[in-house]
Amino acid sequence: MPKVVVVGSYIVDLMCRTPHIPKPGETVLGGSFQMGPGGKGGNQAVAAARLGSDVTMVTKVGKDVFGEEAIRNFQKEGIDISRVNCDEKEATGTALIAVDQHGENMIVVALGACGSLTEEDVEQARGEFADADIILVQLETSIEAVKKTIELANEFVKPVILNPAPYQEIGEDLLKGVTYITPNETEVFALTGIEVTNFSQAQKAAIKLTNKGVSTVIITLGRKGCFVYDGTDAGRMIAGYEVKAVDTTGAGDAFNGAFATFISQGFNLDEAARLSNSVAALSVTKIGTSVSMPYKEELDFLKD
Ligand code: ATP
Repeated sequence: MPKVVVVGSYIVDLMCRTPHIPKPGETVLGGSFQMGPGGKGGNQAVAAARLGSDVTMVTKVGKDVFGEEAIRNFQKEGIDISRVNCDEKEATGTALIAVDQHGENMIVVALGACGSLTEEDVEQARGEFADADIILVQLETSIEAVKKTIELANEFVKPVILNPAPYQEIGEDLLKGVTYITPNETEVFALTGIEVTNFSQAQKAAIKLTNKGVSTVIITLGRKGCFVYDGTDAGRMIAGYEVKAVDTTGAGDAFNGAFATFISQGFNLDEAARLSNSVAALSVTKIGTSVSMPYKEELDFLKD
């Protein structure tokens, strides 16, 4: 059972169906309402836990009903909540989502408590870092928390995955301590200025990132799968799985939670990427983010 420490966001998704996306100042009588756990950190933690990882979540929630719900939800997923801190001032992160009949959406995110995760919050998890097999962090929190996460991982010589999503400016120095970076096409463009539209562009972008100090680059490419590069050869495309996609939100989160699990279980880079493609593909066949993360029982290849 790999031990995974996830440092990042918890956001409650408040989703309302609407006949059309409202214009500024307009009030629309919408349709059904759904509330569910979200946030890249929380989603990736759930993905890893459902695949059998022993996950500790490092995040912050508010002292409110959404925060209580977050704790209940993590516990239901078997995730260790001993490092989920409670912020006295900030509210739990929320995303207000309106989705129209064509699937077009409009989202406003208030990161709240998880956006103000401090260096001290991460430092409190020092013991968990020491025991971990791998650390997983995204950019949906404060940069100081991301920086501290990479520093602690390096101190304990643990591999660290940086999923640079959603993209925000990070000091180039930070990249030196990153073992695996997992940008999608938009994020790799923001990081390197290279538009990845073919193999050679993927290769160029990956080389640029390894030159900045990252050990291994995995560029996720939607239904096409991903490109992997560890500096030892030209890099490879790992093909995606063909499925009937109904909701691709959270695909990247499924991929990252899965990758943390499989690489820690000893699969090599290509095999871990292939298995992660299959988990992410399965997640897009269901509606929702956290709730659509597959359980290991759903994956035929994990059955003995
Ligand atoms: P999101 O922001 O929607 O969570 P992302 O943009 O971070 O996703 P993508 O590159 O779109 O990440 O997808 C991540 C992985 O999910 C891909 O590498 C692939 O394995 C899988 N995937 C995504 N979309 C599909 C799809 N339509 N069919 C099959 N697999 C998919």
